[in-house]
Amino acid sequence: MDDRFDLVAIGAGPAGEKGAAQAAYFGKRVAIVESRDVPGGSAASKTGVPTKTLREAALYLTGFRHRELYGLGLDLARDTVLEAMRARTDEVIALSVDAVRKNIERHGIEMVRGQARLGPGRTVAVTTPEGERTIGAEVILVASGSRPFHPVGIPFDDPDIHDSESILELKQIPERFVVVGGGAVGCEYASIFRALGAEVALIDRSDRLLPFLDREMSHVLGEIFEGEGIRLVLGAGVDAVDRTDGMLELRLSTGELLRPEAALFATGRSGNTEALGLEAAGVEVDERGRIVVDETFRTTVEGIYAAGDVIGPPALASVSMEQGRVAACHAFGLPFKETLDSLPPFGVYSVPEAAMVGITQEAATTAGIDHEVGRGWFSTNARARIAGTTQGLVKLVFRRDDRVLLGVHIVGDDAAELIHQGQAVLHQGGTIDYFIHVTFNVPTLSEAYKYAAYDGLQRLAAGAPSRSSRLVGSEATALLSLGPAFGSTPRTRPMPEGER
Ligand SMILES: Cc1cc2nc3c(=O)[nH]c(=O)nc-3n(C[C@H](O)[C@H](O)[C@H](O)COP(=O)(O)OP(=O)(O)OC[C@H]3O[C@@H](n4cnc5c(N)ncnc54)[C@H](O)[C@@H]3O)c2cc1C
Repeated sequence: MDDRFDLVAIGAGPAGEKGAAQAAYFGKRVAIVESRDVPGGSAASKTGVPTKTLREAALYLTGFRHRELYGLGLDLARDTVLEAMRARTDEVIALSVDAVRKNIERHGIEMVRGQARLGPGRTVAVTTPEGERTIGAEVILVASGSRPFHPVGIPFDDPDIHDSESILELKQIPERFVVVGGGAVGCEYASIFRALGAEVALIDRSDRLLPFLDREMSHVLGEIFEGEGIRLVLGAGVDAVDRTDGMLELRLSTGELLRPEAALFATGRSGNTEALGLEAAGVEVDERGRIVVDETFRTTVEGIYAAGDVIGPPALASVSMEQGRVAACHAFGLPFKETLDSLPPFGVYSVPEAAMVGITQEAATTAGIDHEVGRGWFSTNARARIAGTTQGLVKLVFRRDDRVLLGVHIVGDDAAELIHQGQAVLHQGGTIDYFIHVTFNVPTLSEAYKYAAYDGLQRLAAGAPSRSSRLVGSEATALLSLGPAFGSTPRTRPMPEGER
């Protein structure tokens, strides 16, 4: 068969594109099959890139960060703002799609436009606009991504009920907006629409926002949201959605009736697995329809790999790319990227941002690790004061006996960028002493790390070891498997109060 490749990726999103590029980089003959007319996946056109651009545009156009500082309200008409935001978003989507297209071309990868499904004998059957095409492959990478999950009973055909993709087509900024779902997408959209001046209610069944975050950070973010005027309705769900006299009505499990102009249901994603012919090919899926893979992203069928949202959490573009690369390296025995980073950071682009890497304080407690924390508040940070973004903090979780860093948690402006300093120290198995000894540019938000570390030292000096702790030093290291370098020698003694 002429139509034969070393690797065929199904889907040109982050997982498919990066997996394909990795194999092509090492000289493999590669094709990507994509059903949309543009590459980049949902990340480039419907989720990551558009939401981040909308956020940036909303903050800029409304002067959100600075209006109180200078006493100047930018009173732009809502439709003008929406129009400008949309224009900018389209521009950035086009740039992002173009960047992916160029990367695919640069690597000599063949793009096949069409709907792919697995065929017999390691082939991919593609329905193209010109007809059926069968492509043979030594390795197939399924990277077909996901789509918004639609809970039963929610009328998504109503023009004012949106999911995390249709929200991009909103015709006007609603005066009253309800977001259902306090995860990353819900928090991002709730705070973006609040910055745009909408009255926003954010509803979630959980007792806090972003339950994967350190509990304290969830509360800090919640308080900031409430301070900005977002109404949090936690511990409640939506029982029914109706229209009465033309008005949209959401009945909550608490009995309360909300009448927003528009509502967003940010209630998770479902993998695009149905039309792939997985069952006939023998590729196993779990009870939630996610493709089952091992740590090298091999499915249950030899030569077929899967990466990205189609295998389930964490369902991030950042991690999907890495999964695609590891899958390609493993498939061809390339000694380049053999394992996935065990300490990926998480970034939430709400206003303000939230980010974390490593373990939370609760996880340290549950694991019985004798730990301490240190906090550096943005309210005492010079750069934050100058910028008027004093809400937020850097929180360090570290082992008490040797001060090895275990986790970093940030809420505040630029949290998704700032987290990488903590990530680097964590990866090196460093201690909080690093932040004490290095010189930071002043004024910078990064300096909050230094004062978080000082705070940690003061707490060490002040407090006795936690009675509940069971594990120390090497035992805890093994439990966390944070790598061989974990556990370097402390260089700094705890600092008495006032010695800064
Ligand atoms: C609102 C929102 C904001 C987000 N923001 C971020 C963020 O800031 N940072 C981050 O890291 N992640 C973010 N994510 C998550 C991120 O979008 C996904 O994790 C990422 O897109 C997954 O990449 P993927 O390659 O697995 O799938 P996708 O990006 O979904 O791409 C899959 C591709 O496969 C194609 N396809 C599907 N089936 C077939 C078929 N049978 N034949 C041919 N082609 C097919 C699809 O058309 C699509 O182009 C966000 C998600 C949402 C919902």
